[in-house]
Amino acid sequence: MNIHEYQGKEILRNYGVAVPNGKVAFTPDEAVEAAKTLDSSVYVVKAQIHAGGRGKAGGVKIAKSLDEVRTYAEELIGKTLVTHQTGPEGKEVKRLLIEEGCDIKKEYYIGLVLDRATSQVVLMASEEGGTEIEEVAEATPEKIFKEYIDPVVGLTGFQARRIAFNINIPSELVGKAAKFMLGLYNVFIEKDASIVEINPLVTTGDGNVMALDAKFNFDSNALFRQKAVTELRDLDEEDAKEIEASKYDLSYIALDGNIGCMVNGAGLAMATMDIVKHYGGDPANFLDVGGGATKEKVTEAFKIILSDEKVKGIFVNIFGGIMKCDIIAEGVVAAAKQLGLNVPLVVRLEGTNVDLGKKILNESGLNIIAAESMADGAQKIVEQVG
Ligand code: ADP
Ligand code: MG
Repeated sequence: MNIHEYQGKEILRNYGVAVPNGKVAFTPDEAVEAAKTLDSSVYVVKAQIHAGGRGKAGGVKIAKSLDEVRTYAEELIGKTLVTHQTGPEGKEVKRLLIEEGCDIKKEYYIGLVLDRATSQVVLMASEEGGTEIEEVAEATPEKIFKEYIDPVVGLTGFQARRIAFNINIPSELVGKAAKFMLGLYNVFIEKDASIVEINPLVTTGDGNVMALDAKFNFDSNALFRQKAVTELRDLDEEDAKEIEASKYDLSYIALDGNIGCMVNGAGLAMATMDIVKHYGGDPANFLDVGGGATKEKVTEAFKIILSDEKVKGIFVNIFGGIMKCDIIAEGVVAAAKQLGLNVPLVVRLEGTNVDLGKKILNESGLNIIAAESMADGAQKIVEQVG
């Protein structure tokens, strides 16, 4: 789960991690009121969307007066911002962060992510801040420094200082930078984050070290114990079909293709997407209905696929183990009866109660194309969608 920059900065502030003063605004009037409360003559008006690259796309404006704050706020609210992270359709700006302008001396990058290879949190930093870290990694990987963090000991002051020296933080600010990193690590652990990225971290003219941007990603498996984080969720930023799927505890991710896939098990779902691609098709989604799904859950899953306008054909690929084929068949039939089925449907069923499942589908009167194997099914749906 993602949150907005202003929400991330609020969390950082609560942990004593330095950020500029600022306030969220939903309207131009609120933007001006927010600016009035700031002790500064330069304001920054920042579009709040769940995507980076806003600066280059015109979503970060420097205002020198309250009038300019209003002008920029009017310009940004309601605007669809297209950045390299939003996709071509862009994202509509509904919130702004009005923040004190900061006298930047130099921009750095700092991030915490989980490294799956070592099962440790890794602190990454670079003196090439402000630009995309992926580009730095590509062009000048030697400018990225890493510290792997022992989960028992946590980030040590020594590691934090070593990173600060490596990225050439001026020696008089190394103490502040290290304190920043230790605070950041506490936030990461206590909030069950999976990514915290500060790009840029800056040193300022008046000798401070602070976060000018904040990107957070939280581990959705830990949200049950992170009530305060869960409340920061902004459904406007999420795919409507994904929100619907999460209500039924389905693992669903919308994709760009036109073949809807309903599968049980994440591994089989990945393999199904691969084989659809292999035969020249393009999946419209990843969907794992899970092992113990009920008929209701399967019905909702199938309805989500059916309601996706991009979908020109559906491939149901089930290997029944704990999941029984008859439950899948019942769900498919129920959803198709409710919403109507006007795209080709290819079904491959195998495993527990497969005969009963096939019988239910055969007797449903639905126009179903049976597949003998996964490859056969993938080929058939790709042909149908053409
Ligand atoms: P994004 O990563 O989406 O482009 P950032 O928050 O990183 O957005 O802002 C882009 C750039 O705008 C920063 O690299 C920084 O140079 C400038 N900027 C952002 N916030 C401030 C601020 N409060 N004061 C001065 N400059 C800022
Ligand atoms: Mg940034």
